[in-house]
Amino acid sequence: MQNSAIDTNRFDDSDSDEDQYSSLISSAKIMLVDDEPINTDVLQTYLTGEGYSNFVSTSDSSQAISMMQAEKPDVVLLDLMMPEVSGFDVLQAMRGNKGLQHIPVVILTSSDDADTKLRALQLGAMDFLAKPVDASELALRLRNTLAAKAYQHQLVNYDQLTGLAKLDVFLDNTYAVIENLKTDKGMGAAIHVYLENLKTVNNSMGRDCGNRFIQLYSRKLENCVRSTNIIRDTFGTEITTNLARTSGDKFSIFLGHIENPQQAAVLARRIIIDTSEPFNLDGQLIFPSTKVGIAIFPDDATDPQKLLNNAETAMSYAKDHGGGESYAFYSGTMNEESTRILSIENGLHKAIENDELKVTYQPKVDLITGDIIGAEALIRWISPEIGFVSPEEFIPISERTGQIIPIGAWILERACTQAALWLQEFNIDFKLAVNVSIRQIHDSRMDLTVKKILEKTGFPASSLTLELTENMVMENAESNIELLHNLKALGVRLSIDDFGTGYSSLSYLQRLPLDELKIDRSFIEEVQSEENRSPIVRAMVSMAHDLGMTVVAEGIETDIQLNHMKLLQCELYQGYLCSKPIVAKAFTELLAQSYPK
Ligand code: C2E
Ligand code: MG
Ligand code: MG
Repeated sequence: MQNSAIDTNRFDDSDSDEDQYSSLISSAKIMLVDDEPINTDVLQTYLTGEGYSNFVSTSDSSQAISMMQAEKPDVVLLDLMMPEVSGFDVLQAMRGNKGLQHIPVVILTSSDDADTKLRALQLGAMDFLAKPVDASELALRLRNTLAAKAYQHQLVNYDQLTGLAKLDVFLDNTYAVIENLKTDKGMGAAIHVYLENLKTVNNSMGRDCGNRFIQLYSRKLENCVRSTNIIRDTFGTEITTNLARTSGDKFSIFLGHIENPQQAAVLARRIIIDTSEPFNLDGQLIFPSTKVGIAIFPDDATDPQKLLNNAETAMSYAKDHGGGESYAFYSGTMNEESTRILSIENGLHKAIENDELKVTYQPKVDLITGDIIGAEALIRWISPEIGFVSPEEFIPISERTGQIIPIGAWILERACTQAALWLQEFNIDFKLAVNVSIRQIHDSRMDLTVKKILEKTGFPASSLTLELTENMVMENAESNIELLHNLKALGVRLSIDDFGTGYSSLSYLQRLPLDELKIDRSFIEEVQSEENRSPIVRAMVSMAHDLGMTVVAEGIETDIQLNHMKLLQCELYQGYLCSKPIVAKAFTELLAQSYPK
């Protein structure tokens, strides 16, 4: 069944011949057309014994064509002699129909007449079975017909050198994903990959070497792409559905259901890096050189072919003007954004060792007494290359790259060290809050990191609150329950930050071990006059209290907001009304005023 033109490596680890047939047989849909229902019953019984299970049948040959159109069988067993519409008529109609003309037909006939057979063959029949049918002959002929069909399908739709899909199949797959995206209002990305130096290898080392180069390269590409989109074909071979070889040195990828265009850039960079290692071809090291273009659905186009064209245009841009970059977006603004993100990623790598990160502290204030009871630590970064970058911009990037793990540990240690000093100096029960990202919580060493930092700095666990944003906690809330309990076991408090901006499930709010709820600034902002009092804020405070949580109002800027939150019996607040986040030295002065010795 294997052909030397196919890259046999693809089949090396696949199953034995028997298993390959059995997956063909169990998935095949067989259609039986015979005017005698007893004949179809007998055939079906034979075939069931051979492992077939998927049948459609009719004894009314005038229905055969419409049934085929509806059922799309893999093979048709067709009686020739039928009243009104004969088997020849059915064959004739199938050949004139684009959707049906390639379905293989096995003719069942009691006639030995050579002309009859010739006519059926002319009309495209694939094989004959003499009536009465012999059960084992039937099974073998059917199996061979199916195998031939599957092989033909493979030849037509898949590139024989690499085993990757060809353009048409890829466009069909992409079309289906895009239809889904349209309903879900989702985002996708077409990625065009160009193996720049294939021509050079072909010219200098010959086509055989070039072919080997493409095979090795496409395997690498497949590894980058394959995690999510694998199916098994009728032979049981794994196929990556969203990757195709669209011409000699060009490949296309479609990424469905992405959250933002940068995810496509992440894959583009991975492809460029992973495929850049050299291959040893005939003792010579060949370094693949790759250029990538990205077009975003629906922003850059909504039609699969147009998206691919735009991705190719973007690739040409990367090739001609990319400077240091080997990939480009179709949209110019996306390129700027991508360059900025990349420089932030690169800048963050050295930020800790170059001492570019700083901690600022914003007072947490008792709403009734007005006393400063502690502070929230907020990170600041001034990069020598980029300048000031807001944590709202660089924290999500560091979460994606994993840099948040060392950064998170750094700020925790720095803030605990500082807070332990204030605790001693002012002899007050100073509470420290530190923001943590869910990525840190999912790090298996997180408990240990927190424990070690508390031991090292001598800051009491019970005075430390870890703040997690509502969005992060509620996404995969079920799996977070255990992780948060592990942290709680260290004796720290947990707070749900920016509350009201995400979608909290009330049942999870009850099940998660949370001590504090911080009402997001946007709700406090709405409280602008005595009359304008947000009923939502009132509801949030009372719900949090019912669940036994302390409530913190974020972003209090006016006395009206302060008084309103006081009336609602909210316990604590933060905001510019008391102070902006300030450096440790300034915070010490603030504490000195509040707690004169
Ligand atoms: P957050 O934890 O909700 O922090 C409160 C943000 O509101 C801070 O912004 C603070 O400066 C600002 N803010 C406080 N009071 C007022 C006010 O009265 N008016 C206005 N307009 N703003 C006020 P910042 O420092 O830019 O931090 C933004 C977000 O970045 C934080 O939101 C937090 O989610 C994240 N973040 C900051 N530092 C860290 C960190 O060390 N680790 C992690 N994982 N995230 C951090
Ligand atoms: Mg916070
Ligand atoms: Mg907040």
